[in-house]
Amino acid sequence: MQIAQQSTELGRFFVPGPTEVRPHVLEAMTRPMIGHRTPEMQELIAEIQPPLRDMFQTKRPVYVVAASGTGMMEAAVRNAARRRVLSLVNGAFSERFFRIALATGLDADKVEVEWGAAHSPEQLEDALRRDSYDAVTVVHSETSTGVLNPIRELAEVTHAAGDVMILVDSVSGIAGAPVHTDDWSLDVVVTGSQKAIALPPGLGLGVAQPNVLERAKLKRDRGTYFDFIEFEKNIQKNQTPNTPAVSLMYALAAQLATIRDETIERRWQRHAEMAERTYAWVDEMKARGIGLEVLAPEGRRSPTVTAIRLPEGWTGPRLAAAAAERGFRIAPGYGKLRDATFRIGHMGDHTLEELDALLEALDDTLQGA
Ligand code: PLP
Repeated sequence: MQIAQQSTELGRFFVPGPTEVRPHVLEAMTRPMIGHRTPEMQELIAEIQPPLRDMFQTKRPVYVVAASGTGMMEAAVRNAARRRVLSLVNGAFSERFFRIALATGLDADKVEVEWGAAHSPEQLEDALRRDSYDAVTVVHSETSTGVLNPIRELAEVTHAAGDVMILVDSVSGIAGAPVHTDDWSLDVVVTGSQKAIALPPGLGLGVAQPNVLERAKLKRDRGTYFDFIEFEKNIQKNQTPNTPAVSLMYALAAQLATIRDETIERRWQRHAEMAERTYAWVDEMKARGIGLEVLAPEGRRSPTVTAIRLPEGWTGPRLAAAAAERGFRIAPGYGKLRDATFRIGHMGDHTLEELDALLEALDDTLQGA
């Protein structure tokens, strides 16, 4: 099979996941195998736990699973939702969370707002007053629209409604947008390796609070592969229930060392700066008569991904193709916004300088230079 030739130069790949992976991290994956029931693997798991907890801002263990983000969304629902789920839907991935709840046999309702909008705590409060639910699903950073939901406030409202848990998909949030799992009382937070953590795809990561485990114990249909009780039992011994993705774990250890050197706070800050730079560029283009518009409203924008409305005459796929000719990868819009928008994934290890080079190339492309 022929794989399309792509630039190996860094600073060119701005798709909102998977993101660029630094060479030393890719190289870490070439280390020889170790058996997963060995002291070496236990050491590796023990080594990665403190920086992972720092990344999620939690004292709980962080589960690392051979799965993509969707697997961890399913895990959250299977373990934490008893019967009735309320899904906050504002884009493609939050719609997926709702569908997962239905597919696992639960009753699920949704509170839907238009793609490009965020959910408000008042709206959630209202929905929780009208009916009773035992879990709320929400996407922190909606990668399809670039919207950031106010997770902390949504969690407060959720818990004020009684024994209701909040299950958070922070697949494109964690490591790029601040997440304070414990301080914000988030019951479950899940993510994937291929977004702001900047690893290859293939690892799902997640945190479950002790109250979730209490619920999970009573759920007989929580399945086998994504069983939090098994995850918990094993992580206490620095092990995993099944064969872990050993090579990806090497990469994770290498990348966590990089993130530790940067510090998670500075990583959040860098993402915020990249997002601000993108909005400033959109404004500047607009001032020059090129009708771009950030889809998400101010104050509700994700620091990791921006979806931008295009002027007449352009489509997301056309701009992405034109950018590729200049050696840069961006994404068209997602789903029903495919043509009307394009998306820049300013996440992972990208620098402001790399982003500037992309924006300059897009500038030239849009002006037909
Ligand atoms: N949730 C969000 C917000 C995402 O951006 C994605 C992937 O793009 C997913 C869930 C699904 O993750 P995966 O493709 O790793 O299963």
